[in-house]
Amino acid sequence: MKQVAIIGAGPAGLMAAEAALEGGARVVIYDAMPSAGRKLLMAGKSGLNITHSEDEAVFRKRYDAPDARLAAMVEAFGPPEIVKWMVGLGIEAHVGSSGRVFPVGMKASPLLRRWLARLGAAGAELHTRHRWTGWDETGGLVFETLTGRVTVQADAAVLALGGASWKRLGSDGAWAAILAKRGVVLEPFAASNCGFAVPWTDKMRADEGAPVKGVALSAHGQTVRGDFVITRTGIESGAVYPLAAALRRDIAADGRAILIIDLLPDTDESVIAARLAAAHPKDSFSNRLRKAVRLEGVKAALLHEVTKGAAPRDAARLARLIKSLPLTLTGAAPIETAISTSGGVPWTALDDALMLKALPGVYCAGEMIAWDAPTGGYLLTACLATGRVAGRAAAES
Ligand SMILES: Cc1cc2nc3c(=O)[nH]c(=O)nc-3n(C[C@H](O)[C@H](O)[C@H](O)COP(=O)(O)OP(=O)(O)OC[C@H]3O[C@@H](n4cnc5c(N)ncnc54)[C@H](O)[C@@H]3O)c2cc1C
Repeated sequence: MKQVAIIGAGPAGLMAAEAALEGGARVVIYDAMPSAGRKLLMAGKSGLNITHSEDEAVFRKRYDAPDARLAAMVEAFGPPEIVKWMVGLGIEAHVGSSGRVFPVGMKASPLLRRWLARLGAAGAELHTRHRWTGWDETGGLVFETLTGRVTVQADAAVLALGGASWKRLGSDGAWAAILAKRGVVLEPFAASNCGFAVPWTDKMRADEGAPVKGVALSAHGQTVRGDFVITRTGIESGAVYPLAAALRRDIAADGRAILIIDLLPDTDESVIAARLAAAHPKDSFSNRLRKAVRLEGVKAALLHEVTKGAAPRDAARLARLIKSLPLTLTGAAPIETAISTSGGVPWTALDDALMLKALPGVYCAGEMIAWDAPTGGYLLTACLATGRVAGRAAAES
């Protein structure tokens, strides 16, 4: 019987474990943390968006990867398969109004509990507080544990060590130095699905935590409808994340990026202009905005902030600005706070079964591979899909 070591008990590693068990291997899972799936549990705090129900062709286009391999993996184990898999764990899927798919109840903990129980029942062992530090001279996998150094011999290993954000949940990116030492040339980590820095005035900073609801954000011809949040140092959340890759590229090239905000995406510019023009001439500027087009609170504050308190009084020019307010972003939020990171193991370093070409018998899965995707369930889908491929291949190697 093949001995497969799975290192990293996040969604990618646990799915690799399941696939390796199905492939007939003996499976032992190791994780540095005191318990499994800590980032998955965190993801579940705001509703575990596990996949998306949109059209398959649209779904596949969400991924940024250099060749077609990731798309093929996500096609083989994508939204329908994930829903079926969840149902197999006794958890029905809930499809939100935006098409996002969640486990019913929204949380990750029931799903993780049942998943770990099923893996255990199928024979997988889980060793927590086992930090993988590399290989010894015999090729054994070396772990630091509470009782000292442990070496494990396995026929194949799946590395599913995560990206490099939210270190306190386990994925600290420290594995990059171990692989680099073994000749794997890695792509640098970068914050993805991250917030951005805006040099707010104190006045705007007073709106820290305020949600800006029902706007449309645009950059590079891509527009996203939704909400975002004002933070002490900039903006964060929902509608910002899908644009993060494009915005980051602009910041890398020019030191800044311009995000265009449509504050009233459901109303045409001409309608806004007409309503503003018809407002009572004695109304204050704020009252005119509020009464004519219901622009108030944090949205009005943003308009004041961007125009430095000198928004045009002319109705047509003001309407244009309300529909396309240019907000200057001066940097990406620190990598530690990002929902996910891009970079890591390049696809050129992997064969079609996700085995490291430089390290036969060592497979990779999940966020540690260099692909990128927005939030919306795409991250977890790719982690699960790559976990399946790596786990099955490890069992068959
Ligand atoms: C707040 C938040 C919300 C999110 N929400 C969503 C969402 O709704 N939908 C979505 O699709 N994605 C979401 N994500 C992203 C998603 O959680 C991650 O992309 C996913 O967990 C990555 O899975 P993974 O298995 O590759 O890595 P991880 O989940 O990071 O797991 C890696 C594991 O490897 C272990 N490890 C690392 N190094 C070592 C070592 N040297 N030795 C032993 N073990 C090690 C870690 O302890 C960890 O358990 C969210 C992320 C965050 C932070």
